[in-house]
Amino acid sequence: MKRTIVTGAAGFLGSHLCKQLLHLGCEVVGLDNLSTGRMENVADLEGVGAFRFLLCDIADAAVLNLEETEGAHEIYHLASPASPKFYREMPLQTIAANTVGTRHMLELANKHKAKLVYTSTSEAYGDPKVHPQHESYRGSVHTWGPRACYDESKRLGETICYEYFKRFQVEVKVARLFNTYSAGLRNDDGRVISNFVNQAIEGEAITVYGDGSQTRSFCYVDDTIRGLIRMMEADNATGEIINIGNPVEHSVLEVAKLVKRLAESSSAITFLPLPEDDPKVRSPVIEKAEFLLGWRPEIDLVEGLTRTIEAYRNDHKK
Ligand code: UDP
Repeated sequence: MKRTIVTGAAGFLGSHLCKQLLHLGCEVVGLDNLSTGRMENVADLEGVGAFRFLLCDIADAAVLNLEETEGAHEIYHLASPASPKFYREMPLQTIAANTVGTRHMLELANKHKAKLVYTSTSEAYGDPKVHPQHESYRGSVHTWGPRACYDESKRLGETICYEYFKRFQVEVKVARLFNTYSAGLRNDDGRVISNFVNQAIEGEAITVYGDGSQTRSFCYVDDTIRGLIRMMEADNATGEIINIGNPVEHSVLEVAKLVKRLAESSSAITFLPLPEDDPKVRSPVIEKAEFLLGWRPEIDLVEGLTRTIEAYRNDHKK
């Protein structure tokens, strides 16, 4: 049985990934320090298959000696706060997870000759001056701002991956993830889809930041997870950075109106100040993922939002 380590296992993406890997018959060791992840995300995984959860901080060197990581075949390194709300509350922990934590995971990969997928981010492109974003675009970022703890540490995480790939031939693959969503995000996550859907269901004002003309490209979680697993499987993805996202771009105001319509909500749409350094546009070129992985998203925003609204609604009823 393939032993797979997932960091950030109790998070939104991590818990979805663990579930899918267990369905595929892997033995999964999930690591999380619960800084933003929640035990309820992993509570039912033991029933799905061979799952073990370890409460630990990947930035702590003790992770290098965990018995449960012995003989690992694959490492998915997802651990990091990902919502702007949370990484701004814990900037130094975010930096540690993506730099020291990434190095620790690469050390483990090197020791056990395991393959490693590192989840980087579209934020590596910053507030992009080239649109849409191809992997070769080097980004428009800066070190001195509220988002820097996330985007700069993800970029440095990529560089550490590069060094382990070049120096030690670790089979590393880097995924740059673009906004992923579905039910399962915390109600207080603060990201746009969870805010809008919760607000629409509760009949509260839908809070658009700025004039809502900024764009994002939203990828449904099942598509993202399928992309990450394909990446781990694909030998030709080794040593590559690959965008994983849905290339269909929407303005934030369009999303607010769409959520309101799909939820049949009477909520008003209200406009609040745009946060500092909020990127104006964001959309992936996914030719590389199509070519190397044979992957492209299958679930469009209407379908994904419909599923998300229904799931949040059921959750609200509990
Ligand atoms: N946003 C918004 N209202 C909200 C939450 C977010 O208008 O209640 C906007 C935010 O300013 C950004 C976009 O939605 O332009 C996506 O924000 P999110 O925090 O989901 O992720 P980001 O892509 O900025 O990391």
